Amino acid sequence: MKVLVINAGSSSLKYQLLDPDTKEVLAKGLCERIGIDGHIKHTPTGKDVYDADRYMPDHEAAIKLVMEVLTHNYYGVIKDMSEIDAVGHRVLHGGDKFVESCIIDEACKQAIRDCIPLGPLHNPANLMGIEACEKAMPGKPQVAVFDTAFHMTMPPKAYRYAIPTKYYTEDHLRRYGFHGTSHRFVSKRCIELMGAEKASRVIVCHLGNGSSLSAVKDGKCQDTSMGLSPLAGVPMGTRAGDIDTCVAQFIMNKYNMSADDCLTMLNKKSGVLALSDGVSSDFRDLDAAAEKGNEAAQLALDKFAYEVRKYIGAYAAALGGVDCIVFTAGLGENSGSMRASICDGLEYLGVKLDAEKNKLRGEEVIISTPDSKVTVWVIPTNEELMIAQDTAELCK
Ligand code: ADP
Repeated sequence: MKVLVINAGSSSLKYQLLDPDTKEVLAKGLCERIGIDGHIKHTPTGKDVYDADRYMPDHEAAIKLVMEVLTHNYYGVIKDMSEIDAVGHRVLHGGDKFVESCIIDEACKQAIRDCIPLGPLHNPANLMGIEACEKAMPGKPQVAVFDTAFHMTMPPKAYRYAIPTKYYTEDHLRRYGFHGTSHRFVSKRCIELMGAEKASRVIVCHLGNGSSLSAVKDGKCQDTSMGLSPLAGVPMGTRAGDIDTCVAQFIMNKYNMSADDCLTMLNKKSGVLALSDGVSSDFRDLDAAAEKGNEAAQLALDKFAYEVRKYIGAYAAALGGVDCIVFTAGLGENSGSMRASICDGLEYLGVKLDAEKNKLRGEEVIISTPDSKVTVWVIPTNEELMIAQDTAELCK
């Protein structure tokens, strides 16, 4: 079986063609600057990369170009589109309507549309991707996989905000959480690797440009650090993370800033980028600057590690202890120094890192010592594979 996985943004579209059974990736790529001018980078496995400026006025044009390169006689990996069995879409916000992935039909599209107020930046783009595929590949089965779905098992004490009830009942304002496909993939993998009993209480640390943690009991999410939006939780590349709301009120009043502009500042100009006084939102740059003695970069790294460590402590309390801690995503998989810094101070929980193992990067490995009470893992995430597997399962 071959599944095309699509992650559509407002002016970009990421794709991957893969076999969910063999896990083989046939090709992946990125269309950028859709609606502006257009650029595609297509990477077919074992063949030359196609990297070109190509005009893409809209998402339908982008999908048509993806179809063209996938079936191209030189850069292509399939003869024609009939070889693709189904399309799986990453959709940001499923609100409280979707507890799992679903086949896309009119009702599903309407439900995604209904969630636009909750995911105003992403859901419209996700819908554009879906509708572009419907037009370009009529009749091809399509599946939506929601970033929020895995977190829908949280109990009300975790997902309700302590604000008047009508904002929950009428406006659906609550904690939803994101990166759910990744949290599901790595927590499931951790259970496969350890067995259900030894991976009963798992804390997943998805640390990348965007970062979130989740507390998972027996494979089900109990709590997660992001909230109504991906702004909440630990500080991130450019997002502030948890913050006293009065900070926003103060800034808006003093600088005559609108709520939208203030939120843009908290989403795009904050996080470790701001803490490092503009050095970078990329942790590799922060490491390099801190090594040269840049104090602001060091503060950004220390603050990030401190806040992640605090969430681990909180989730150990929420789960009544912890069996496994799993690091995943760009930073979690690759930065041994950040993992060490986060775990430094978690000895009281029974966490003992193996300094040598912790140097390994990007592979599935236990980085704690054999006598560590908590097993600490690095498990590379694979959201595309999870989306392809869900799609295959629903389209059987
Ligand atoms: P996204 O949230 O955009 O999917 P990723 O999960 O790809 O992000 O993570 C990207 C981030 O991972 C980069 O911004 C960088 O800060 C961090 N990263 C990747 N490799 C390393 C490394 N070797 N050392 C430190 N940080 C790294």
